[in-house]
Amino acid sequence: MSEKKLNIVQVAVPTPLRRKFDYLLSDAINPEHVIPGVRVLVPFGRTKKIAIVLGKTSETEIDIKKLRCISKILDKKPVLSEDIIKLLNWVASYYHHPIGEVFQTALPVHYRNKESASEQGISFWFLTDLAQQADWDQLKRAVRQRSILEQLKNAPEGLTKEQLASEQEGQWQAALKVLCEKQWVASKIKQPVVEQNEHDAKIVNNPGLFLNEEQQAAVDALSQNNTVYFASLIDGITGSGKTEVYLSFIEAQLKNARQVLVLVPEIGLTPQLINRFEYRFSVKIQTLHSGLNNTQRMKIWQQAASGEIRILIGTRSAVFTPMPDLGAIIIDEEHDLSFKQQDGIRYSAKDIALVRANNADIPIILGSATPSMESLFLCQSGKMAHLKLHKRAGNARAPEVHLIDIRGQYLQHGMSRTLIDLIKQHLARENQVLLFQNRRGYSPVLLCNKCGWISHCHRCDAKLTYHRQRNHLRCHHCLTEQPLPLQCPECGHGDLSQLGMGTERVEKVVRELFPETDVVRIDRDTTQRKGALKNMLELARDGRQQILIGTQMLAKGHHFPNVTLVAILDIDQGLYSIDYRAPERLAQLIVQVSGRAGREEKKGQVVLQTSHPEDEMLNTLLNLGYSGFAVKTLAERKELLLPPYSYQALIRAEANKIEKYQAFLEYCFQVMTSIKQILSTEDGGTDCDAQFLGPIPAPMEKKAGKFRGQLLIQTSQRKQLHHILSRLIQTVEVNKAAQRVHWSIDIDPQEIY
Ligand SMILES: [Zn+2]
Ligand SMILES: [Zn+2]
Repeated sequence: MSEKKLNIVQVAVPTPLRRKFDYLLSDAINPEHVIPGVRVLVPFGRTKKIAIVLGKTSETEIDIKKLRCISKILDKKPVLSEDIIKLLNWVASYYHHPIGEVFQTALPVHYRNKESASEQGISFWFLTDLAQQADWDQLKRAVRQRSILEQLKNAPEGLTKEQLASEQEGQWQAALKVLCEKQWVASKIKQPVVEQNEHDAKIVNNPGLFLNEEQQAAVDALSQNNTVYFASLIDGITGSGKTEVYLSFIEAQLKNARQVLVLVPEIGLTPQLINRFEYRFSVKIQTLHSGLNNTQRMKIWQQAASGEIRILIGTRSAVFTPMPDLGAIIIDEEHDLSFKQQDGIRYSAKDIALVRANNADIPIILGSATPSMESLFLCQSGKMAHLKLHKRAGNARAPEVHLIDIRGQYLQHGMSRTLIDLIKQHLARENQVLLFQNRRGYSPVLLCNKCGWISHCHRCDAKLTYHRQRNHLRCHHCLTEQPLPLQCPECGHGDLSQLGMGTERVEKVVRELFPETDVVRIDRDTTQRKGALKNMLELARDGRQQILIGTQMLAKGHHFPNVTLVAILDIDQGLYSIDYRAPERLAQLIVQVSGRAGREEKKGQVVLQTSHPEDEMLNTLLNLGYSGFAVKTLAERKELLLPPYSYQALIRAEANKIEKYQAFLEYCFQVMTSIKQILSTEDGGTDCDAQFLGPIPAPMEKKAGKFRGQLLIQTSQRKQLHHILSRLIQTVEVNKAAQRVHWSIDIDPQEIY
């Protein structure tokens, strides 16, 4: 090798290969411009790909003659900061996921596929010399063009689209286009001016609410550790004023000139929450969620990265947003399943946030009325502070919860006499009633009364749901739709029964039972149109609608001051699942749904219809509350060595034939068994207690025409789990036969069965 030091650049290329790639720098590229986090265009196979620079090195394991050169540098400034690069490296290794795909997932879409995306800045429109010299009187009839020119004349620095829009009306965008075509108006991209100093002067719009003793104690505890890594769980019942505690904590961060990242569940991002932040603070607040288009997402990403946005409220993927002055992370409703991504990289935004906070040495707060067993376990083991808010703030009073035994009761379309009477009583007092049914559509099963035929999806192991309004059958798993058959497709008989209750059917029944009462149904089918959910929620809060029917969507975050009765129509669906997490989920759901009742002065009532009133879990929850339930559940998990007392990973495989996924998982089983033996006999090796459970079919073996199976690994030591997986992946990746199935690894799986 020559004396000259080699310039080798390591990059992350979006490919399914689990490695970094080395490239050389040609003389045409200034090595100083190649900084970590900058995007580059690289030749890859026969194509070119956008990759991210990870670092430079002077050594490579590849034959230097085989290395290719970077084609082009795409950014002047890094699109990813060093702390995010470090975080993504951790994500790739912890989740055993290809590093290029990890970087790809973290970046806004435009950065992934547009070479020029990082032109950070905003377009400004201004008058050209041509316009200055022209005779504007020729535009007498073109009122809009004339008006735009007048506006721009007074702004030699140029105006943004938003600024133009504030004074123009009608078809002004078309007029602007004409002016651009005439070359009277031109646009220029400028760096946005960060008006930070302006914000420093004024942070608080409105003072906070009066804090009760518990809230004040929580705020005091948080403020003692607000500049170093410190994890806290705010375990606060619904209505105890967690948000007010967050706001006080955030205020201190803002006054220290720090940014704050707030992660919320997908459907927790309610206008109410955002309004509350905006009412309280005058700094720039933005939300990042799946409802935004790619351009909007990128703009927010850039504004957070430039420090312009001081509070970023976002769903799961917002955890990857660069924020140079990040001072704290808050995860609201931390128990929510949407923090875990269920496809691609199956990451937990909560765990990543904890690592990010630790790396940055900043505090992190998790909050919930129904904390996850994992978080409670961290509190038990002293890794997280446990701050309890068990009083309802203000005048709110906790609801009474009781069971309605439906055994032997005649059910009128899923509703017991007891429940119907209760609804009448609450309506008579001019209150609202909320009926919870976690199933969309009209009926989940269509059955032939003669031959027993059932409406199965031909692509999934699932039944087709009848949707009455659209009058068709739909599979909720692969979205297949077909018209409602008039007769049985098997025997031609015309007597088909619709079995079971979906929200659509509950709505129909309720309208028949209470014809005088307004009814509103809130589920994914009724809220597809943009703004529909917001409108419905506003109506519901006005007290205008009196019976609300909803799914999971209604269970979280929303606040209905006039609801005094909450009924869960069918609690039994969730009682007998084989998933060890099912009781935790059900308890969380019951408590969260109950929390919608009686949040103001009016005391609420919650009823659960069940044919298993003796169920132990239900009774523990009702008698001892969520915290009593949690103590018991953790004790059970400990005894059975289930997470969080052990560590799990799930290997999933999918193929067009059952035999194929079986053969692959069987092969993994054998490879891991021999790795386990080697681990136990290696020098200094400790006993490896890893268990491999499976292969078994996935809970829904056939989905969208593919067959799926899984293999679970469980150990008492996290290190062993990762060790086995790393070695397994090395073996699998060189095995061509194995590559014929689609497989993935899910670390800390949340849904096993
Ligand atoms: Zn039939
Ligand atoms: Zn299907």
